[in-house]
Amino acid sequence: MISIQKAVVPQKLVRLGRPWRTWLMQQISHTPNRKWSELPDRIKNLARTKYRNQEIKSALRAEAHSKCSYCETYIAGAQYADIDHFRPISKHPLLAFEWRNLLYSCELCNEEKSDYGKPDESIINPSIDNPESEMTFHFTGLRHGWVNPLTLKGERTRDVLKLDRPDLLIDRRRRLQEVRDNIEIYRAALNDPNLQDATRGMVGRLVRSMTGADASFSSMCNQYVDTQQDARVWKAL
Ligand SMILES: [Zn+2]
Repeated sequence: MISIQKAVVPQKLVRLGRPWRTWLMQQISHTPNRKWSELPDRIKNLARTKYRNQEIKSALRAEAHSKCSYCETYIAGAQYADIDHFRPISKHPLLAFEWRNLLYSCELCNEEKSDYGKPDESIINPSIDNPESEMTFHFTGLRHGWVNPLTLKGERTRDVLKLDRPDLLIDRRRRLQEVRDNIEIYRAALNDPNLQDATRGMVGRLVRSMTGADASFSSMCNQYVDTQQDARVWKAL
């Protein structure tokens, strides 16, 4: 997980966020106990179509670099993405259309998180917290590729989102192996006395492409590269 810089609020939300919220709260006020969960599916679906508006989804996708804000899986097609309410809509319907409460998410992370939202036991919010000070990864031994929480919040985040779920772990390990293989190739190339400056520049760009915010699992890749003695040299190329 990496930090997410929230983008400018999309015009659609600037214009319609408040009327949508008023409409939703009116709908909820008609339910027996004034709860989102008591709304008819028709109204819930209508609310979903509002915050899933294409302009809003595109802005969320762009700020998250087309990756899940939680697990950093690249989401190939927008149709596979969900919009997550960091503070769940079921408990905080007032925040249903609040820009700062919306995050681009894969279906699985959104499903695992569900309506989790204990204020005293918060998980990492990538648009507020610095995720990399809360969790890193194991790079050696049988647990390589597993999340290595640095704090209680990091541990809770791993557990709530199931960030070590088998499919995700396979993808992360595969990516880690690719990074390791690439590093060996770069290291060999950089040790070649005949290497031209242009090639050195290329190695630098390739290292940055593995660790930049656009790369899948960039937090893990960046932290792994930083464990290498010559990481600073590569990043400066
Ligand atoms: Zn995810």
